[in-house]
Amino acid sequence: MKIAVLSGGVGGARFVQGLVDAAAPEDVTVVGNVGDDVEVLGLHVSPDLDSILYALARANDEERGWGRAGESWRALETVASLGGEAWFRLGDLDLGLHLVRTQALRSGESLSRVTARLTTAFGVTTSLLPATDDRLRTWIATAGGEFPFQEWFVARGHRDEVDGLRFEGADAAAPAPGVLEAIAGADLLLLAPSNPYVSIAPILAIDAVRAAIAARRVPCVAVSPLIGGRAVKGPADRMLARLAGGTSPRHVAACYAGLVDALVVDEADAHDVGGLGDVRPIVTRTLMVDEPARRRLAEAALGAVPA
Ligand code: GDP
Ligand code: CA
Repeated sequence: MKIAVLSGGVGGARFVQGLVDAAAPEDVTVVGNVGDDVEVLGLHVSPDLDSILYALARANDEERGWGRAGESWRALETVASLGGEAWFRLGDLDLGLHLVRTQALRSGESLSRVTARLTTAFGVTTSLLPATDDRLRTWIATAGGEFPFQEWFVARGHRDEVDGLRFEGADAAAPAPGVLEAIAGADLLLLAPSNPYVSIAPILAIDAVRAAIAARRVPCVAVSPLIGGRAVKGPADRMLARLAGGTSPRHVAACYAGLVDALVVDEADAHDVGGLGDVRPIVTRTLMVDEPARRRLAEAALGAVPA
């Protein structure tokens, strides 16, 4: 069974870990968000792709929830002591990857090519594709002005309420090589439990990707990032309340109107699955506390395809 999954960073990466545990890793293609990409200290950083890569390589830091296990921060300490740009936390191990990627991009290699190289170098057999090789950047509109995604998320600690989002470059962006093929060739499409607005929407903002999913002949299953109407981490619940009018399963499903056939929701939301229309609720425990929990959640989503 071939699976294509759209994913943001940390929440998506945890789910993808469970997925490659429950299914053959080679049969999974992950399409990652690049709307969060940022240039820091002259380096091209792709935080969501890297969260997925580190998780697939089991090189991620479980406790901190992002970045690499065994990380150290000496380079960034030096940057800070020299008055350099230190607001975006880049560890020493992480920096090594950003150096390789940045050099590759500068020499004309595409983001998808260098991502494939890095994935192979980490011994990962799952395909990891950026949604696009073109420049696509998420902007956040707030009462205090419009900010590039990382400035809002990291520098301002996502404290400003979000009035709107803009995906700069999305109109001209083409899906990266392999993205449409993975979607067309999949027996199951999945939307990871990532933030619908800032992780999945930038991928769907690429017209051809959205159209390919809308035209699917196989099930598409989304996993809700909310438990009991609350985000496990981050601003997804606040954004849904403000932009969709609530944090019930139907509000999550509304973000994916016409694109999903089923929504995996937590037992804590089972009482609240009204208004889903023809989106079928799949109720299970969705907190990915450990490996078995991640695998069980993936299995619940995989269960949408009759064996
Ligand atoms: P980011 O790009 O690093 O912000 O990560 P994502 O957008 O992929 O994931 C963030 C979302 O993951 C948040 O909205 C969380 O609520 C959700 N999330 C994190 N851990 C879990 C979990 O264990 N279960 C569920 N259902 N959602 C989770
Ligand atoms: Ca992200």
